[in-house]
Amino acid sequence: MTDYTEMWKGLGLNLDKHEQLLNALGTIYADIYLSQKDRPQGMGYFDFVMSEVHGLRIRELLDHKEKGGKVVGTFCLYVPDEIILAAGGVSVGLCGGAQFSVPDAETVLPRNLCPLIKSFFGFKLSLVCPYFEAADFVVGETTCDGKKKVWELLDNYLPTYVMEIPQMKRGIDKNLWFQEIKAFAEKMEKEAGVKITPEILEEKIKLVNKKRKAIGRVFEARKATPVPISGKDALLIAQIAFYDDPERFTAKVNELCEELEERIIEEKGVVDRSTPRILVAGCPMAIPNWKLHHVVENSGGVVVCEESCVGTRYFTNTVEEGCPTTEGKLRAIAERYLKINCSCFTPNDERIEQIIQYCKDYNAAGVIHYTLQFCHTYKLEFVRVREALDKAGIPVLEIETDYSEGDAGQLKTRVEAFIEQISM
Ligand code: SF4
Ligand code: SF4
Repeated sequence: MTDYTEMWKGLGLNLDKHEQLLNALGTIYADIYLSQKDRPQGMGYFDFVMSEVHGLRIRELLDHKEKGGKVVGTFCLYVPDEIILAAGGVSVGLCGGAQFSVPDAETVLPRNLCPLIKSFFGFKLSLVCPYFEAADFVVGETTCDGKKKVWELLDNYLPTYVMEIPQMKRGIDKNLWFQEIKAFAEKMEKEAGVKITPEILEEKIKLVNKKRKAIGRVFEARKATPVPISGKDALLIAQIAFYDDPERFTAKVNELCEELEERIIEEKGVVDRSTPRILVAGCPMAIPNWKLHHVVENSGGVVVCEESCVGTRYFTNTVEEGCPTTEGKLRAIAERYLKINCSCFTPNDERIEQIIQYCKDYNAAGVIHYTLQFCHTYKLEFVRVREALDKAGIPVLEIETDYSEGDAGQLKTRVEAFIEQISM
C-alpha cells in the first residue's frame, strides 16, 4: 500500500477527518460490493480504482497540474467534458453522495436542502475531498434553485464559474445555450492559456463518444435475462466515469463488456432468471451513494437500468463527428447536450416517454422512482411519471430519501413489499 499522507498534507486536507472518511468508505465498500457473488472478473479494475480513490487518481491529477494542465470540478451532466479536454484540462465530478459531510454543510446551509448539494458543500468546508482540493476552479450551472444559489457561497472558497442552462428547449433557448457553450470554450482557453483547435476538439469529441458508447454497451448487456451484472456494479461503473482517465476507463469498460457478452451467450447471470427486474428512475446517485441499489438487491430484486445522470442520461446520444469548423463542432456539442432530459426543464415529456420505453427495452417488471429529499423538480415531475406508468400498466414505487441510514428499515420494508407485488 502506498502512503499518500504527504500528498494529502500538501493538498491541505484535514488528515484526521479524512482518515475517518476513508475508513468508513472501506468498510461500506467491502460490505456492499465485495460481498457480492459471481461478479464479473472485469470488475476487478473498478475495485482497484475504488481502493485508490483518494490515492493514485489524485497523484495523476497533480502530475497533470505540474505539467501545466488544469483540473476542473463539475457537478452536472450539462458541463461539456469535450471542451475541458480540448483545452488540455481534466474534469472531475464533484457531486457528493455521502452523509459524512452533511453535518458540516448544515453549519452554513439550511437543513431542508437536497443532500447532494449539502454533501459536496460539506466536503469543501471540511477539507476531506482531495478532488475538490486538486481543482483549479469549478463549474456550476443554473439548473435547480438549490445549486444555483449555492454557487454564490461556494465561490467564497474556490473560483466558481457558472453556466446558464436554459430551462426550455425552444429556438431561443437553443441559441442561448450555444452562446453559453462558446463562452465556456473561451473561458477554458483563457484559464488554460491555449487555443482550442478544430483538430483537438474533434479528437476529444471522439474520445468522449467512445466513452459514452462503452457505458451504453454495459447497459445493452443488462437487457439480457439472466442479467450478467448486478445493478450495484453497473452503478459503480457509471459513477467512476466522472473521475477516471477517459481513455483507460473506456478500455476497461469494453474489456468488461466482452466478458458480459460471453456470459450472455452462456446464460450466466448474477441472479436467477426469475429475479424481478427493476428500473430505477430519478435523481442522480453520486458516489458513494449505493443505498437504494443495496436495499433492492438485498431484498430479492435486481436493478437492470438507471434512468438517471449516472445511467441513461449520461450515455444517450453522442456528439456529431466531422463538423469542419470549431464553431460547427461547438454547435454539435450544444445540440447533443440539450437532449439531456433533466427535470429542471419544462416541459420534459421526452423523459417520461423514455422511462416507458426503457421499461420495455430492459424488460423491467416495475419502476422505483427515486427522489432525493427536497428535490422539487424530480418530486413534482413524478406526478406525471406516475400517470404515464399507471396508463401503461407498469407498477411503480416512489422513494424519497436522503443519505442517512435513519430510514433504512422502512425503506427495506417498502422495497420488499414492492418486489413481492411485482413477483406475483
Ligand atoms: S439531474 Fe439535472 S441538474 Fe442534476 S446532474 Fe443531472 S442534468 Fe444536472
Ligand atoms: S438532485 Fe435535485 S435538488 Fe439535488 S442538485 Fe440535483 S436537481 Fe438539484
